[in-house]
Amino acid sequence: MELELEPLRLPSDNERPFVIAGPCSAETEEQVMTTARQLANYGCHMFRAGIWKPRTKPGGFEGNGEKALPWMQQVKKETGMLTATEVATPEHVELALKYGIDVLWVGARTTANPFAMQALADALKGTDVPVLVKNPTNPDLELWIGALERLNLAGIKRLGAIHRGFSSYDNKIYRNLPTWQIPIELHRRIPDLPIVNDPSHIGGRRELIAPLCQQAMDLGFDGLIVESHCDPDKAWSDAKQQVTPDVLDYILSLLVIRDETVTTEGIVQLRKQIDEIDNQLMEMLSKRMRVCREIGYYKKEHNMTVLQTSRYNEILDKRGAQGALCGMAPEFVAKVFENIHEESVRQQIEIINK
Ligand code: PEP
Ligand code: MN
Repeated sequence: MELELEPLRLPSDNERPFVIAGPCSAETEEQVMTTARQLANYGCHMFRAGIWKPRTKPGGFEGNGEKALPWMQQVKKETGMLTATEVATPEHVELALKYGIDVLWVGARTTANPFAMQALADALKGTDVPVLVKNPTNPDLELWIGALERLNLAGIKRLGAIHRGFSSYDNKIYRNLPTWQIPIELHRRIPDLPIVNDPSHIGGRRELIAPLCQQAMDLGFDGLIVESHCDPDKAWSDAKQQVTPDVLDYILSLLVIRDETVTTEGIVQLRKQIDEIDNQLMEMLSKRMRVCREIGYYKKEHNMTVLQTSRYNEILDKRGAQGALCGMAPEFVAKVFENIHEESVRQQIEIINK
């Protein structure tokens, strides 16, 4: 279906990027107000804070719930910033609207569940609150679009998408893999839908916030949603990825905003592709090492030697032939795989000697 959209009409709509900032969770009234005042001083227009927190394991801080909603009202009253929070159930929608939250977002775990999305859409019928939909945890563009369609069919026309990356299993650079081609394809399919990047949940580490923000801007994203906390190391959730409002302001001040209608040097775009491919190579290598370690445990259990020469020769021959088909020198391919093999053997020896 074709989405029927209206512009979000936020106070910062004509700024690129529009920035939504605030802590992962509303922890205490003091933490919310201190963070909000600092962000407002830096010119931020929209404050985010999680009131209900989806946690992977039970027993963690699951948000303050309704108790924290008056703090959000206070933020709006005192600083003039609009407020945004995550809703996952019809009850959350009802309470968020009751307390005048201006923008709602749907979390990644909820987007992945069509029943939950339909329940949210039903609860939102008759309202015209803007809703931002995070990508589902799995890299499934149709599921993401399906969630947007359900809200649109319920009459929500001020829609946006948040790209927060996709879960993966192996050791990784990112907490959630960016897989940029998915939001890029979303933009191609629904050009009028604003897309906001969430570097905090993609990166999972504060040092990745700046490069991810820049990458999102270079790819033409409309906005950023960044976790910012007055005392990040003491945050009750997602401490490693939060930055203070002054660090956020510094990061934003360094952003180079390119206008997508101006053709920038081709080389910038090509280098970005190289960066993305290198990231993928690193993730693939990490996956390969995990499987090697599993083989290491197998060898240990079955009393096998780490070095199995026939298997090693088979790999070198096969990869060499594949390399030739791809137009690469066999010596180059041999070198790459010798190095990979060396590291695999090193990791397996570690396991055997454990
Ligand atoms: C959040 O924004 O704090 C959050 C829980 O995000 P996600 O749904 O992307 O995990
Ligand atoms: Mn968070």
